[in-house]
Amino acid sequence: MSSAMNVLCCYSCQMFQVHPVKKANKWQCKVCGEKQSIKQVYYRGTGKDCRVYVQESNLLKSNATQWENDIQSHDLEVSEDDCAVAPSKSLETHNQMQSSVVPESKWSKYLNKAEREDSVN
Ligand SMILES: [Zn+2]
Repeated sequence: MSSAMNVLCCYSCQMFQVHPVKKANKWQCKVCGEKQSIKQVYYRGTGKDCRVYVQESNLLKSNATQWENDIQSHDLEVSEDDCAVAPSKSLETHNQMQSSVVPESKWSKYLNKAEREDSVN
């Protein structure tokens, strides 16, 4: 399961930011530390998509220089998260396995016809 993320906007400092979707309705602003409840979810999706949304939204506002530093640190965090959960990653691995050397046990039954002679000999 990939983890869904919410894009929220702090009522205090008006900064958009990415937070993991939780059951609890409470969240704390990463920028000013203000605790609040979720009033509106501006966007919901993967960490990557949310990050793009947040960056664009805050660029449009472009009224807080400290946020730029903040984006970079969160950027790293979310990137690591993406690597762990991104569905596309496993697809890539899957394709690589098919195109390169194939482990016998799992794939042999699919290859019986095509590569039988090699395997037997
Ligand atoms: Zn805030």
